[in-house]
Amino acid sequence: MIVAIDGPAGAGKSTVARATARALGFEYLDTGAMYRAAGLADDPVRARIRLSEGRVLLDGRDVTGEIRTPQAGERASVVAARPEVREALVAQQRAVLADGDWVVEGRDIGSVVAPDAEVKVFLTAAAEERARRRADELGLDARTVLADQTLRDERDRTRDVSPLAPAPGSVELDTTGLSIDEVVARIADLVRAC
Ligand code: C5P
Repeated sequence: MIVAIDGPAGAGKSTVARATARALGFEYLDTGAMYRAAGLADDPVRARIRLSEGRVLLDGRDVTGEIRTPQAGERASVVAARPEVREALVAQQRAVLADGDWVVEGRDIGSVVAPDAEVKVFLTAAAEERARRRADELGLDARTVLADQTLRDERDRTRDVSPLAPAPGSVELDTTGLSIDEVVARIADLVRAC
């Protein structure tokens, strides 16, 4: 079974997807980490990206920490707008998801990577709350994070290939004011109902 979780930066996808995978006993795939690693590569199309046991390897080099900086997020959204990069990473993601039960998060999972996913969730939250969460997590200034986030959201929403939007058949879940446990419980209910 595949549970697809899409949504803009800072909506809580990573925390929620990881916790949902743990609650359901599913595996977890963070496709954003793949775009972030590709953004650091000399050749993002041919880069060998491996996610294993919580680590991210780019051509054999551990980039787990490096991919989390705001600059890496910015570079990720730039390379993510290139069709040939998306094609290469989507193929890798589909290969990983071919077997087993997965919670997978990204921007285009329910629409492109796994359109037949049994459960599709589009997570959102108010822009200010998303920026505040990211700022707390990274120890940065909330106004700077909000400015970066607005830019990145705009680029993700308006790109020609796979622009960020709720996939057909997805359930929109606004996490503003909800705890992680509440969000996970709602997704687990959707999984039980199918
Ligand atoms: O989710 P995260 O913030 O780590 O993603 C970084 C960037 O990678 C996003 O801003 C987006 O441009 C890109 N991305 C994407 N498609 C995905 C996952 C991430 O375009 N499935």
